[in-house]
Amino acid sequence: MLPLLLVVTAASCGGTQAQGSNDQGDPKGAVWGSDGKGQERAYADLKYLCEEIGPRRIGTKGLEKTRDWMQVILGELKGWEVSLDKFEVNPPEGARRKGPIEGVNVLARREGTKKGEVWIASHYDTFDKPGFVGANDAGSSTVVLLELARQLQGEGPREGMTIVLCWFDGEELFPPLLWDNDTNSTFGSRDLAERMEKDKTIKNIKALVLLDMVGDAKLGLLKESGSDARLKQLFESTAASLGDGGLFVGQRPINDDHLHFRKRMVPAIDLIDFNFGPGHSYWHTKEDTLDKVSANSLARIGRLVTAALPRIEKEFGPKGN
Ligand SMILES: [Zn+2]
Repeated sequence: MLPLLLVVTAASCGGTQAQGSNDQGDPKGAVWGSDGKGQERAYADLKYLCEEIGPRRIGTKGLEKTRDWMQVILGELKGWEVSLDKFEVNPPEGARRKGPIEGVNVLARREGTKKGEVWIASHYDTFDKPGFVGANDAGSSTVVLLELARQLQGEGPREGMTIVLCWFDGEELFPPLLWDNDTNSTFGSRDLAERMEKDKTIKNIKALVLLDMVGDAKLGLLKESGSDARLKQLFESTAASLGDGGLFVGQRPINDDHLHFRKRMVPAIDLIDFNFGPGHSYWHTKEDTLDKVSANSLARIGRLVTAALPRIEKEFGPKGN
């Protein structure tokens, strides 16, 4: 993703001091999942991504390996129908890489008893830089979705709306060209949203929650200006109800995958921390490594999304249910 504003706001870990939190407003020892071990599994997955797989750029062996690994994990879970959504990418003229490149979005769908779909999304490709392992961007959100798949599994249809977990390919730009949301970035989400608009299936999506850069050990989410106002409110009040009211720390617009759905009238939100390291200096650099990410942050995000889900279903789902 890229900020629409070039001025990086100073770290502001202000907000209401949550009970039981330290002086940064970060609750320690957050746990996620009925066994309290969601963050441990997610962190182990992230370690595997960073240390065993490494760089995961679109159209490369690293991303193919990632996809195979994800499919093995998802294949062992109950109730998920996994599909690969392939599309063709042609990097714009002037890009170092030449097309066509095959992009692959990965989708896992768990059918529900109620009408409508809630999408929880992340990108799973990494920035094009030699040696860049993307622990935070976007390893963190990739593994949070995988752990959500474990926690939301079950036999038969789930009680509630259909859940679609979606890992977008090709979110990152092709260097040396700059970010452009319509021509050089967000290739997977753009392609899929366009196709879903054409075949009208996009109408089934009642809410889309995008996660991006959610693992920073010093976590602070933006109230992203382009996100749906009702979803923003819902997530802020959910965070507060978890005693984590300090989780949202600033406000600004961010260009990211969610906008392609947002402009097609899908209520969508981008949960993103865009202040990574001193002066945002770890972003898209080789500093984006496992040691900058914490299991505690993964827990804070995981439990937030888990707690928000029934609220989303209530507020955005079919009435009279
Ligand atoms: Zn990025």
